Amino acid sequence: MKRNRIIIAIVTILIICISIAGIILANTKKESKKIKTVNKTATAGEAKKEDSGKADKNSDKDDSKKYADNKDKSGENETSKNEIETTSSGNEGNNSGQSNIENIDPNKPMIALTFDDGPSREVTPRILDALEQTGGRATFFLVGYNIDGNEDIIKRAYDLGCELGGHTYGHVNLIKIADDEQVKNQVNAVNIRLREITGQEQSTTLLRPPYGSIDERVMGLINNPVVLWSVDTEDWKFRNAEELLGYVEQNSYDGAILLMHDLYPTTADGIIPAINWLKEQGYQLVTVSEMIESRRGEIKLGVKYGEITP
Ligand SMILES: [Zn+2]
Repeated sequence: MKRNRIIIAIVTILIICISIAGIILANTKKESKKIKTVNKTATAGEAKKEDSGKADKNSDKDDSKKYADNKDKSGENETSKNEIETTSSGNEGNNSGQSNIENIDPNKPMIALTFDDGPSREVTPRILDALEQTGGRATFFLVGYNIDGNEDIIKRAYDLGCELGGHTYGHVNLIKIADDEQVKNQVNAVNIRLREITGQEQSTTLLRPPYGSIDERVMGLINNPVVLWSVDTEDWKFRNAEELLGYVEQNSYDGAILLMHDLYPTTADGIIPAINWLKEQGYQLVTVSEMIESRRGEIKLGVKYGEITP
């Protein structure tokens, strides 16, 4: 009997032990399951977080870019403001030798003759002669590779009160250049040379992008007001003086910006009588900046100027 009791006691203890072991095991399993679930959730959460992190990063990038752009732009605006303020006080804010703004009547007809792709030793001085004789001014958008060796012509244009703008160093299509630095260099290289030649420190050098080709990206990269045109004489195509004179007579209007090229002798042949005709019609022959400032006030960055009607 005593032996039986001992056996029962041992069995009972064993059962209790097994039960306890079972409970512990089950709990451990549950725990591990819990941990696994938690891990799974955590992983999913992490992944989600990572995704949203990525998205955040991207949007941050975009935003920071936007902010940077805005910052740049506001910086540019400030610069331009300062420069223009200097213009009105010191005549040194833009690339023209002397500001004639006080002599311009914003209510009287005016026109801005513009010449791209020069200067040319054969053509540009003849146009300058005609402007000098009539007291008119024009704007020249120079390409960098035509500057060397023509510094005297550039200086003369500047001294006559003409405006010197940039047309990129290599006559490139800016929107097709993927590298931002290259875009800036193409524009700035001309500005630097013009500053060296004119001896002027501050500038709001206008930019006429070759082919009139410009987009928001390029606008955000450059520190120059952009000038397009409203009348394309297509002088490069026709290369005919009579045709150019007739075209100017028929298409000129108050506030127009005319596009020509001081590369072709026919352009000089046609524009010289056209300058006289415009004067007879009562047009003030002004630079682009003079036309903008007399009619719109400050020249603004981020704006593409095409015509400045009253
Ligand atoms: Zn051009």
